[in-house]
Amino acid sequence: MKILLRGGYVHTPADPHATALCIEDGAIVWTGDDDASVHFEDGADRIVELDGRLVTPAFVDAHAHLAQTGLAAAGADFSGTADLHEALDVLAAHGRTTSDAVVLGYGWDETRWPEQRPFTREEVDRALGGRPAYLARVDEHSAVVSTAFLDACPDVVHADGYDVTGRVERDAHHAVREGLFRLLPPSAREDAILRALRIAAAEGIGMVHELGAPHICPPEDLLVARNLTAAGGLPEVVAYWGELDAVDLARELGAVGLAGDLCMDGSIGSRTSALHAPYADHPHDPGHDGHLYLDAEQVAAHVVTCTQAGLQAGFHVIGDRAVDAVTRGFAAAAETLGESAVVRGRHRLEHLEMVAPEQMQTLGRLGITASQQPAFDAYWGGEKGMYAQRLGADRALAMNAFATLNRAGVALAFGSDTPVTPFGPWAGVRAAAWHHTESERVTVRAAFNAHTRGGWRAAARDEGGVIAIGAPASVAVFDVPGDLVVQTPDARVAAWSTDPRAGVPHLPDLHPDLDLPRCVMTLVHGAVAHESEGELS
Ligand SMILES: [Zn+2]
Ligand SMILES: [Zn+2]
Repeated sequence: MKILLRGGYVHTPADPHATALCIEDGAIVWTGDDDASVHFEDGADRIVELDGRLVTPAFVDAHAHLAQTGLAAAGADFSGTADLHEALDVLAAHGRTTSDAVVLGYGWDETRWPEQRPFTREEVDRALGGRPAYLARVDEHSAVVSTAFLDACPDVVHADGYDVTGRVERDAHHAVREGLFRLLPPSAREDAILRALRIAAAEGIGMVHELGAPHICPPEDLLVARNLTAAGGLPEVVAYWGELDAVDLARELGAVGLAGDLCMDGSIGSRTSALHAPYADHPHDPGHDGHLYLDAEQVAAHVVTCTQAGLQAGFHVIGDRAVDAVTRGFAAAAETLGESAVVRGRHRLEHLEMVAPEQMQTLGRLGITASQQPAFDAYWGGEKGMYAQRLGADRALAMNAFATLNRAGVALAFGSDTPVTPFGPWAGVRAAAWHHTESERVTVRAAFNAHTRGGWRAAARDEGGVIAIGAPASVAVFDVPGDLVVQTPDARVAAWSTDPRAGVPHLPDLHPDLDLPRCVMTLVHGAVAHESEGELS
């Protein structure tokens, strides 16, 4: 298969004036200008006239949950609800449209509702006429289930984290998830994974890191994703499994790491992230400093096991007490194995939201990638956001320290944690460049790199994420509403020249007042994974 694209703006560091590129057998074989492109017309299966559009390396989403994303896309969506009553109306209306074994709903956030509390089991029972229901909080770390769901999964009520109102967190939430896997037919999960991959492709995403774990999905999901994508024409899936002592299972599943949402702690929103000092909105309750699921010794043992097995190790880690434990664990593993062995292991940490400067130094030295979600700051950052409500402004404003981590030599890879926040790479780039905390903003180019090449590198796949001769032909074509620019959103000195003669490749103007670029085509290893109908010749 040979495809020639021309008449656009090709984002490549190799040639700032490139307007055309040629793809053959899944690789980029040439970039140049339109005049020279005539030499590549011969034998082309398709010639795409770009009409001034932008071509970039396809995005990578370095943290996704495909089945949940697909299920959420087909479930009740509470993300835009103004109060609890509206959410119950949305739920009842959704219930009337589905005959599924379990009614699913996603994205509720009681901190955005005047009632400041989630649904109760009785309210859900009434809205759905007593059907089984699973309604996940926006951070996916807690949920509310209906009475009929509990009847089908009677273990849940005995688990730690169960509340009689139907709210479940921690062990009880894990038991609920396992019950959900049993109640839904496997075909529902396969459909959901396919749906999620198509949504990703339509956003210009060519690679998804699927972060499975026992509390999130059955291991078979990783095999389903692999089978679905084997024929091409969908985003590539890099699989991770988050479980201790599971080297054989990782190999069976084709996972590249025992990493991802292997949880050190929970989430800020659910008050389950492990903190040094208590949650600010529970000041009189000294026990309220979250939950640490693994200690430094367990981390060290896991990192040693994975490094020796040639697998990436990694953890979900958010609160400062959890980051402290995970950093000490990595340092201990480096003492056992030697620093360079740990660096070569290409390990990674998910979220990494509350990091102290000395921890950044350790993580940078050990070559750890920070897999982060800029949309978390856009959703929950700032002086009045949910993080500030839970932690107080001082701790909240120091979170998601993209710029400081970058300066400490910690490589960044961006993702969405979908369905926590939706697939939306340009929104992620914008969120990082317009961080609520000005000193943690990074340039659009740095954020773009973290959402493209950074994702390939996080998976130890150093060959991709850039338009260059010989690189994998995973690229996306965008309609850009504004201008192509070199953008440094804050007033500090730019890290490179904005002078056009310097040849720095341009990117869309992502100023928050403007519309974001719109994907019209995504190619994955040269195969079409998405194309908007009737837009390209
Ligand atoms: Zn996580
Ligand atoms: Zn996750």
